[in-house]
Amino acid sequence: MPTVKEVTSLAGELHEECGVFGIWGHMEAALKAYWGTFSLQHRGQESAGIAVLDRGEITVHKGMGLVTEALKVEIEVLRPGHAALGHVRYSTSGESSLVNAQPLLMRTRFGPLALAHNGNLVNAPQLREELAASGSIFQGTSDSEVLAHLLAKSTEAHLIDALVESLPKLKGGFAFAVLSPEGLFAARDPHGIRPLVLGRAPSGGIVIASETCAFDTTQTEWLRDVEPGELIAISDQGTIFKSFVGENEKPKRALCSFEAVYFARPDSQIDGQSTHLSRRQLGRRLALEAPAEADVVVGVPDSSLPAAMGYAQAANLPFDFGLVKNRYIARTFITPTQTERESSVQLKLSAVREVVAGKRVVLVDDSLVRGTTSRRLVLLLRQAGAKEVHMRIASPPYRDPCHYGIDTSRAGELAARTMTLEALRVSVGADSLAYLSIEGLEAGLGSQGWCMACFGAGYPVPLPVSAVEEETPDVQTSHIS
Ligand code: AMP
Ligand code: SF4
Repeated sequence: MPTVKEVTSLAGELHEECGVFGIWGHMEAALKAYWGTFSLQHRGQESAGIAVLDRGEITVHKGMGLVTEALKVEIEVLRPGHAALGHVRYSTSGESSLVNAQPLLMRTRFGPLALAHNGNLVNAPQLREELAASGSIFQGTSDSEVLAHLLAKSTEAHLIDALVESLPKLKGGFAFAVLSPEGLFAARDPHGIRPLVLGRAPSGGIVIASETCAFDTTQTEWLRDVEPGELIAISDQGTIFKSFVGENEKPKRALCSFEAVYFARPDSQIDGQSTHLSRRQLGRRLALEAPAEADVVVGVPDSSLPAAMGYAQAANLPFDFGLVKNRYIARTFITPTQTERESSVQLKLSAVREVVAGKRVVLVDDSLVRGTTSRRLVLLLRQAGAKEVHMRIASPPYRDPCHYGIDTSRAGELAARTMTLEALRVSVGADSLAYLSIEGLEAGLGSQGWCMACFGAGYPVPLPVSAVEEETPDVQTSHIS
């Protein structure tokens, strides 16, 4: 049995890159949740689950792996129900276990509750310690359990009031969904760091999802984004919209810009704005800020292709598919060791000799975190005969780790934090290297109020002292200018 301290430190390390999908009031809710969750697969490949509500009882189906693997048997036996909640999860390798797979099912005095979330609470360790000291027993390390225990401790008579009381205690970036016999509840953090959208299925039912791409797959009509600090309660009696932050306490909006840069699917709309078009715009800006004498522009498939297209258009250069991706290989980003990461990049991508041989190539990637991908790709292009490789990154230098739910490794591994621009250029082996500026990112994304903390713009939600202390020793102040 782990001690409170052990549990706390695990929770502190936990990062949740996840997707949630909830539906209330549909005859085929479970099936809709299956397809909705399936279309959010890019947000998490470690585990998947669906909770189905049927006549006051909740059944949870979950397993490890992709939606099609984790719910392979269950799709045939998914119980009918009129409401369901789906989840995909991704975390760093150490915490990979079914205990943390979501939705979590808890028996409370409000009846059975299924909880699912996306994001990371910066005060989870502190809340866990407080809750454990007053008798709460935790089973896993997920932030959803923290909310479940806060709800269980509330003295409010109704779940909606218990949520309004508990949600303000959570600090960080989060999108929570709770399914209960009373209704489906969805809440977004006060800064709106993590995305959450609201829709209506014409065939019946109200839907919430991390991204609008899940609406397209489930024939759902987008109504609006859930507001920062908003709690939505959906039930057979109708839908109630509540704010869990006081009018005078509303913080500035800070939607994760990395969703627009890399994480969200290109066919999703973030805040009503097409992710694909935003990425193309970032590429255009990059071309204006960092031109290169070149013959062809190549993007890193798939996430960087829109930015590469934008770069080529603005630079008046041909865009071509100089790199191809093996679609059947798992994600490489968070494999445990550097050697594994390097060889998986090589397995995942290959260069097309006919496109790059003898050419001066502009290689556009959406982001550079550790530099592993860039180093391998520059080498691949050179091996395929590229004469020059000019690396262009369609986002600013990634200097500070994310504490709000996107896993981008520890401070000491962040290349832009530990190396000068010239040292990094040499390290990736490019003829030139340039990033988009913060101003370029802001202008490319258009609207106001983005979190850009990982790009050195400051954390919108203050971090606990422990997190700041943990990072400080890694800083070697050779910042990129
Ligand atoms: P790195 O190889 O560490 O420099 O990571 C940058 C590459 O990984 C880019 O090609 C990105 O498209 C991709 N990437 C960036 N952030 C993430 C993330 N959180 N999860 C998975 N891939 C990522
Ligand atoms: Fe997104 Fe970066 Fe902010 Fe994290 S720090 S929420 S990755 S913009």
